[in-house]
Amino acid sequence: MKLIVVGASHGGTEAVQTAIEQYPDSTIVWYEQANFRQMMGWSVEKLVAYRKKLTAQGVTLVDETRVVRLLAATHQLVIQAKEPATPQTVAYDKLILSPGSQARQLTVTGATLPGIVSLRGKGDLMWLREQARQNAQLQRIVVVGAGYIGLGAAEIFAQAHKTVTLIDVNEQPLHGYLDAEIAAPIAQTLRNHGIKLAMGQRVQRLLGEQHVTAVETDTATYAADLVVVAIGAVPQTQWLADTLALTSNGSVVTDAYQRTNLTDVLAIGDATQVNDGPTQQRITIALAGNARQQARNAVANLQLPTTPLAPTNGTSALPVFEYKLATTGLSEQRAHRLNRPIVAVTWTQPVTMNTDATVTTKLCYDPNTFEILGAQLVSTVDVTANINLVSVAIQAHFTIQQLATADFFFQPVFSTPTSFLKATAIAAVKQANQYRPA
Ligand SMILES: Cc1cc2nc3c(=O)[nH]c(=O)nc-3n(C[C@H](O)[C@H](O)[C@H](O)COP(=O)(O)OP(=O)(O)OC[C@H]3O[C@@H](n4cnc5c(N)ncnc54)[C@H](O)[C@@H]3O)c2cc1C
Repeated sequence: MKLIVVGASHGGTEAVQTAIEQYPDSTIVWYEQANFRQMMGWSVEKLVAYRKKLTAQGVTLVDETRVVRLLAATHQLVIQAKEPATPQTVAYDKLILSPGSQARQLTVTGATLPGIVSLRGKGDLMWLREQARQNAQLQRIVVVGAGYIGLGAAEIFAQAHKTVTLIDVNEQPLHGYLDAEIAAPIAQTLRNHGIKLAMGQRVQRLLGEQHVTAVETDTATYAADLVVVAIGAVPQTQWLADTLALTSNGSVVTDAYQRTNLTDVLAIGDATQVNDGPTQQRITIALAGNARQQARNAVANLQLPTTPLAPTNGTSALPVFEYKLATTGLSEQRAHRLNRPIVAVTWTQPVTMNTDATVTTKLCYDPNTFEILGAQLVSTVDVTANINLVSVAIQAHFTIQQLATADFFFQPVFSTPTSFLKATAIAAVKQANQYRPA
């Protein structure tokens, strides 16, 4: 079997690694449009050793080569390398596409001025850190978008003592992840670290002639030497539009087995959608964990559809200065937007017997079935891994009663006699009993 994998980030890498294990006799050709060594931040020696190992496993990594067309009828791809400049045609038996997404751009006047950047990965983050440390010309930084990536960028520049303004159309940072009261301490720490929050403002245009000089919103104008745009991502699938079924937002349409509408063509990662566990909607959740799980499933389904993708809860975590936050499943805000019944309880307690540091946990559940729908937690102590437990509970359709009576350990150095997650579930059960007579 000749397998071609397109894209060498999370999805592509996991697909290649899994295919090496499951199809050791196959020939795998792996295309990546970027320079792989630069993408990974590797030395020349490390790349040489990696290529050698891949070759021994039947894999050829072809980087700086863009796949420009899919010729489904003949099971072929058209590829465009830097050298030779003429496109070439290559054949596949099976094809796994993981072309991912690119940063969404502003569409207002001035959006293409020099000095406006967006981030697409590790290399870009490294560049940003270097700019913050070494580029004295950059004093006034405006970050547009207060999601995970925007907050990360704002923190990098605030730590370098730059003047940072964070703009978002929503009234709070991390609107897509946290409810307002859970995000409140995060907003406060951003302010405490000198970041000006310009929430509830929409960017109207970017000003400047040779270079961006300011960002104008519907409320105010902010001077800028550098503008970081972090307003989400869009699937990198334009080149597939003439052959593959795409959703209206450009995601490749796949079934539960990662199969596209074309025989022998599977797609994974940010370029596709997943089933959202709590709502059962098909949505885009751009996370590396999803891309990697889809990759393992795609390889398992290469010959026969045996392994459907389980629903996902968008489980994620982020450090923001001294805080560590994590979230999974539905927030109250999103449930209200979807008109879905939801009840929530919020509980704050010390993390362990040996510290005053607290953790605040919000648990969301269905008021009729008591099934757990989501959770958010925030603390100065790293308790983020607990969110994985709630994600599993959502996947297993656990109720608050089941979580409240689950078997959790107590060890004074690591926990309180009643762990914060269990305590939150107990509070939820008490709350539920109040509106549901016994
Ligand atoms: C700054 C930043 C930080 C992040 N941090 C986290 C995190 O902490 N945790 C987490 O879960 N997620 C994180 N993410 C999201 C995560 O990076 C993505 O969900 C994940 O990389 C998706 O993997 P993918 O393989 O689907 O696509 P991508 O990572 O987008 O990779 C697609 C690859 O395909 C290549 N490609 C595209 N089209 C072609 C073509 N036609 N020919 C050849 N090659 C092509 C691209 O060059 C790219 O290398 C972060 C994202 C960003 C931008």
